Amino acid sequence: MKLLLVEDEAQMARLLQRGLSEEGHQVDVCARGEDALSQAADVSYDVILLDWSLPDLDGVSVLRQWREDGLSTPVLMLTARGSTGEKVTGLRAGADDYLVKPFDFDELLARLEALSRRGAGSAPTAQVGSVVLDSKKRSLVRGSLEVTLTAREFALANELWSHGGDVLSRSRLLSSVWGTDFDGLPNVVDVYVGYLRTKLTELGATDVEITAVRGIGYRLKKVTP
Ligand code: CA
Repeated sequence: MKLLLVEDEAQMARLLQRGLSEEGHQVDVCARGEDALSQAADVSYDVILLDWSLPDLDGVSVLRQWREDGLSTPVLMLTARGSTGEKVTGLRAGADDYLVKPFDFDELLARLEALSRRGAGSAPTAQVGSVVLDSKKRSLVRGSLEVTLTAREFALANELWSHGGDVLSRSRLLSSVWGTDFDGLPNVVDVYVGYLRTKLTELGATDVEITAVRGIGYRLKKVTP
C-alpha cells in the first residue's frame, strides 16, 4: 500500500514509518497539516493515517478540507483522545476509522488492510470513448495503457467523465473540485484541464477531447479521430 502518515511527533512518525515499511508499505510522512493538504492533493494514496493534534491545523480541520475538496481516500485518525465526543467529531468530519494511542501495531495493520479493501471495493468506473476513468486506481485507462492522476486531477476528471458530453461551467468545476471557499485564480481550472489533456495525449486517445466552450466552461466529448 501507498500510505501518507501525518504525525508531528518525530519519534512516533519514525517508528510507524519503519514498522510499516518493514511490512512492505510505502510511507510518506508529513509533520504539518498544511503540508499534508498539499501532499494529498499531489500524490494518490491508498490510506491516510492522520494524527488529531498537529502544530498548525488540527487533524479534523485537515480532514474536513480534504472531504470538501472531494478527496475520497480512506482516512484513519490517530489520537491520544478517546472520548466518545471526539470520536464522533472525527467520524463526522469524514474519518473512516479511528485508533486511540497507544495502539497495538498489529491492530493498526489490520485496520489499514480493512480500509484499503473498503476503498478499493466502493469504486466505480466511467467510460467516455476509449478512455476509462478508474476511481479505484485513480487513473485513466485506455486499453493496456494507464496514467495515474493526482487527487485534484482525479476530482476534475470525475466531474468530466461522470457528465460526459455535458457542458460544465467553470464556476461549477471550481466549486466541486476546489471547494466553495476557493480564493485562488479561476484559471486553475484551465491549468488542470491542460494537465488532463496531456494525460489523454500520453494515452494516445484521439477519440475523446476536453473542449473549451467559450464563455462557459468545458465538456468532455467523443470525437471522430
Ligand atoms: Ca500530534
